[in-house]
Amino acid sequence: MSELRIDDRLWSAKARNLSPYVPGEQPQHDNLCKLNTNENPFPPSPTVAAAISQVLADQADELRLYPAPESDDLRQALAQWYQLDSNQVFVGNGSDEVLALVFASFFMKERPVLTPDISYSFYPVYAQTFAVELVKIALAADFSVDPDSYRQPCSGIIIANPNAPTGILLALADIRKLVSEHPNAVIVIDEAYIDFAATDDNTAVSAITLINEFDNLLVTQTFSKSRSLAGLRVGMAFGNLSLIEALTRMKNSFNSYPLDKLAQAGARASVLDSDYFEQTCQTVINLRESLTAELTELGYQVLPSQANFVFARPKQGHASEVASKLREQGIIVRHFDKPRIEEYLRITVGTQAQHERLIAALRAMQAVDSVDISQ
Ligand code: PMP
Repeated sequence: MSELRIDDRLWSAKARNLSPYVPGEQPQHDNLCKLNTNENPFPPSPTVAAAISQVLADQADELRLYPAPESDDLRQALAQWYQLDSNQVFVGNGSDEVLALVFASFFMKERPVLTPDISYSFYPVYAQTFAVELVKIALAADFSVDPDSYRQPCSGIIIANPNAPTGILLALADIRKLVSEHPNAVIVIDEAYIDFAATDDNTAVSAITLINEFDNLLVTQTFSKSRSLAGLRVGMAFGNLSLIEALTRMKNSFNSYPLDKLAQAGARASVLDSDYFEQTCQTVINLRESLTAELTELGYQVLPSQANFVFARPKQGHASEVASKLREQGIIVRHFDKPRIEEYLRITVGTQAQHERLIAALRAMQAVDSVDISQ
């Protein structure tokens, strides 16, 4: 067969100039210890499969019909859970899609959008796709966000909280400061990992608690992490009614049925099972703390994470080499070859058994390395 070659002759200039996001890999081997894409190691609530099966059993015939375009029942369930009105809730096909609609709805303006220099690597891709100028604001030396460094004209600010890949949480008081100092900009807080965060005194950490107070705050979240539903593709945004209306207009100018019937039913069932959700989050938090302690004991420098992953710097050897050696043993973690963070590994919180395998591999690696050094 002749070799297939990509020919961009018929592409638009836009398609030609894109630099698409590269998602963490999803290899299909058995016995893989997959700690690279921040999925939940535990299954979703059993009520999710039950709700999806019920749709298939009772309403399979209805799959010939389009789903509810605005996912009303799901939005209602989310509104109830967060004590909002359902017109303050928007849902989309994963929060990645919601974020794309955010860039198109609020950021395509003359003024730039501000974001931390180290953050979710999809933001620069959206900025390029939607021709938005993105200005990167340096995180402090300890990788925290300094709200005072955002005092400049902008059409928006987007911050992942907890931040990715550092896991560091920005306090609600700092978010309040950003939102009140920029009344004419949309402040987007990407809370993909917020359900794994906790304050010492158990006060609220989610910026959702501020949306009735500020009309320029939009909070995005996802079912992919704390609700173990990355495969279902459901994300959401919470904000004042006018922001939600802008997102709905943009969605309906692009794809009016982003969530299929099964995804709507499954996601709704997950929201209704609050006990399962809370227990799973707590288990992941406990596992994060034990993983942090074990890595620290091995001499790793571990940033204080409030997410379902840790960002850790090996005591010896380069992070990229440690990642490749782990890979040879079927353990996959994420390494970013980027300034300031190239010496760190992002390790997703897994099960206890996965952690034991990881720590044993790292310990063996260090033992071999110290023999090499002493020889
Ligand atoms: N925001 C952040 C910070 C993320 O890490 C991710 C996951 N890659 C997303 C958003 C997107 O998640 P999803 O599209 O699965 O909802």
